[in-house]
Amino acid sequence: MTEAALTIDGLGVSFAGFKAVDTFSMVVPQGDVRVLLGANGAGKTTLMDLICGKTRASEGKVFLFDQDITNLQEYRIARAGLARKFQIPSVFRELTVRENLTIACTAMHGVMGNMRLTSTAQEQDRFDQVVETVGVGASLDRIAGALSHGETQWLELGLLMGQGARVILLDEPTAGMTHAETMKTAALIRRMQGTHTLLVVEHDMAFVREIATRITVMHLGRFLAEGTVAQIEQNQQVRDAYLGNG
Ligand code: ATP
Repeated sequence: MTEAALTIDGLGVSFAGFKAVDTFSMVVPQGDVRVLLGANGAGKTTLMDLICGKTRASEGKVFLFDQDITNLQEYRIARAGLARKFQIPSVFRELTVRENLTIACTAMHGVMGNMRLTSTAQEQDRFDQVVETVGVGASLDRIAGALSHGETQWLELGLLMGQGARVILLDEPTAGMTHAETMKTAALIRRMQGTHTLLVVEHDMAFVREIATRITVMHLGRFLAEGTVAQIEQNQQVRDAYLGNG
């Protein structure tokens, strides 16, 4: 059986007595693209906040592979290999795509006062892999600030991979994208599948069909269902709670 990359076990949090996430559990195997579905207010954003350490869980556990990351500080969770991609990109707009990716892929070597950005062979390999996965080989010398919205989002994903993220949380990755950009994003996510594990909040079922290995459905803070795209689309409970009115 494939190793679990992300294990959520009985996770919960309340806001002023209201259970936004309630004893929620799921396991995402290494290399899967898991889509998280749920109506507005189902608790998807809060669940992502709990996983990445932005909000403290009042019950339950989160494991990244076999490491317990529950309620660690956000930077420690990121350092352990779990990244969350936000809509607002963190690219250096005045630097080139190559410089952005080099910085992401390369640890600082040397001692204080004599730091330099020289890639080791391993870091160079990672750079090459990220360039291939993101498909930016032809854009390496472009200034990041001149990229289109879609290209900027893809570079941002490249930066997360370059920094060593093994599990990546994405919230509506195609927001604001054209149809062509959406299709390119689906292709990029499929290239990431296998080497990276993704948990994606997404409403657009056409896009979900393009990317999902499996779907988990949340309703009123709780786990409702899990299955393949076809299973979820045919699930009567899901249709009643979400798809029917979504
Ligand atoms: P959407 O698809 O609209 O983004 P969601 O599934 O992401 O919805 P959440 O944003 O996680 O849902 O919200 C879940 C519930 O928790 C909602 O009822 C929301 O009002 C409530 N909630 C979220 N954060 C807080 C907070 N900081 N304080 C109080 N209530 C909150």
